[in-house]
This record gives sequence, C-alpha cells and structure tokens, in this order.
Amino acid sequence: MNVPLLDLVAQYDAIKGEVLPAVQAVIESQQFVMGPAVSRLETALAQLARAKHGIACASGTDALLLPLKALGLKPGDEVITTPFTFFATAGTIHNAGGTPVFVDIEPDTFNIDPAGVEAAITRRTRAIMPVHLYGQMAAMERLDAIARTHGLPIIEDAAQAIGARRRIGGQWRVAGEMGWASGFSFFPSKNLGGWGDGGLIVTSDDALAARLSKLRLHGGAKQYYHDEVGTNSRLDTLQAAVLLAKLPHLSAWSAKRREHADYYTRAFAVTPGGRGALRPPPVDPANEHIYHQYTVRAERRDELQAHLKAQGIGSAIYYPLPLHLQPCFKHLGYQAGQFPESERASREALSLPVYPELTRAQLDCVIETIRGFYR
Ligand SMILES: *Cc1c(COP(=O)(O)O)cnc(C)c1O
Repeated sequence: MNVPLLDLVAQYDAIKGEVLPAVQAVIESQQFVMGPAVSRLETALAQLARAKHGIACASGTDALLLPLKALGLKPGDEVITTPFTFFATAGTIHNAGGTPVFVDIEPDTFNIDPAGVEAAITRRTRAIMPVHLYGQMAAMERLDAIARTHGLPIIEDAAQAIGARRRIGGQWRVAGEMGWASGFSFFPSKNLGGWGDGGLIVTSDDALAARLSKLRLHGGAKQYYHDEVGTNSRLDTLQAAVLLAKLPHLSAWSAKRREHADYYTRAFAVTPGGRGALRPPPVDPANEHIYHQYTVRAERRDELQAHLKAQGIGSAIYYPLPLHLQPCFKHLGYQAGQFPESERASREALSLPVYPELTRAQLDCVIETIRGFYR
C-alpha cells in the first residue's frame, strides 16, 4: 500500500468544487494584486488568531522578516530563538541585521526551553522568537512573563501552528494571539496551504500594523511616496481566494489530524522492540496540538526510514541538522554538543503521514510496517 507523507491531490479532489470558482472569479476580475480577497483573508485570520490586524505578505519567511525589520536591529543586536526549527526562523533574524542567539529545546515538546531563554538575555537582546514546532504551542505563559520582565517583544513563528491552542490561566489562547507580532505560512504543505507561496502577520499593535502594511509595499502608504525603504512582499489575490475557500475546512482538518495522531499514539504504546524503541510525541496537557507533523523519536531512525520507504511509506526528518551547526552560522561560534536536546532530536525525530485524508487502512499499514521493523 502506498502512503505518501502528504497527499495534496486527495485534498484537491475533495474541495475543488469550492476552490476553482473562487479562483475563476479572481481571474475574471483581473485584480491580481491587492484585490478584495486579500483584505477579506486578513480580517478572517486576524479573527482566528484573536488579533486586531492581519497583514498578508509573500511568504511565511517574510511574515517573520517584516516584523524583525520593524525592530530596526543594529549590528550586534540579538534575537533569542531555537536551533531546532526550519531555517527561516534564524535566517530572517540574520537578514534583518540581527544575530540569532540559540537556546536549547525541551525534549518532550521540541519547543524552546523558557529557562534557557531567561539565561540567554543580555543587554543586546531585542526580541524573543519562539516557534510552535510541529503544531504544538511553546510555553507562552512563561515566555510572556520573561518578555514582560525584560521589556522585550515576542515574535511568534506560528508557521506550523495555525489554529493551535494552549490553556493559560484557565483560558484558551491561540497561536499568534500573545506575541507582539506573529507569522503564519501558507506554503502548500502547511495545514492551511495555498497554491504557491504566501504568508500573513497578525498583531494587535496599531502602529506596527500600519508600519508592516507599508513595509510590504516599498515603504509607502501612498503610491510613489516612500517614508522608509520597504520591499515588494504582497500576497497574490489568487492565493487569498484559494485560502479563503479552504479556511472553513481548517478546524475539521486539524481535528482529523488529531484523530490520526491519537490512533498512532495508542498503537505505538505496544510497539515491539522494547520500551522506547519508538516513542510517540508527548503532548503538553495544556496544549491542543494541530499536528502539522506527527513526529516520533525512533531508535535506528535512518534504518526505519529506509524500511518505510521500501514499503511505499513516506516520512521525513525535520530537521537533520540543528541551526547552530549550519555552515552559514559557523561565524557565530557554536559547537557540537552545546545544545544536546536539539542535537538528539535531530538524530531521533521522524515525521509520519498524518494528513487529514488518510484512511484507516493506510494508518494501519504505517503501524504494521513499523512494528514489523522492530519485531
Ligand atoms: C514553513 C516555515 C517557515 C517559512 O515559511 P515559508 O512560507 O516557507 O517562507 C518559517 N518557520 C517555520 C517553523 C516553518 O515551518
């Protein structure tokens, strides 16, 4: 049986009757740039993230870069983040003129360790950038307390966590709600994926929202008059129309992902090969995970992945080399062994298929193939 890591054709087949007319309407209007669907999407996603403003942009990367640019970082200014994430998290800090300062992760959630964040704060720290990895929120209440104590803004990398929630002080808080600014990605493989690149920033800071709206249009609110130097980072109207058509499905898709994840986790409680051969991802009881990825820790991980591949089952290693050890950050002076949890995660993590359209038979096939490997 074939079980790809992600099957976007299955999703397309299920919803094309809703998406294609929306795309056709944009084509017939010929308003490809900053058409009305863009501001409708901005309003809808600001509402989803319980923020005042949504500012659409060209990619999830730009959704991090633009708020970082708004900080006006000077050489030597530091932004604290995790080394166990997609490259864009730290790449944007560098490209905004800052220095990424890495802090190790908590082994259970794969998210940044708040105690490490506090210890890493210096006179040069300008912001904290947590990532809600794989769709599970970081410990925002602790990060928020640290940020407030030190007067630092939080920029949430919420690229993998659209709609994820965390219970804080008896109330649900959503990904993107608590940060000064938060970035979402609509890369096609994300839980809410466009038909190309796209991103969106949410913020409840009026001044920041106005600034970001300009930064994505070459720094001018009025065409041909430029208050500062920005760039071209707009979301295509076509992408906004696709995303608006998909948005009503998002919470059901996330629920399906959770259902699949729970099914795996129950099955893997009795995996052969001894305790710990394959460890399902622990969920912080405060969190409602949206399972952008279902990521296990596996003994003999690379052999397991080859075995799955040979049986037609897709999987992926997110991420094989933590960012503090990337050649491009050599000048920062980090050493192997410095962030043992991130390094261990990069050796053990394996993401399995968890997309909403998976069938029970496909899930059973993944489970049986893994059991066969360890038996
Ligand atoms: C996908 C992703 C990004 C960047 O998004 P793009 O839309 O691909 O530019 C940033 N951070 C994380 C954690 C991501 O997963």
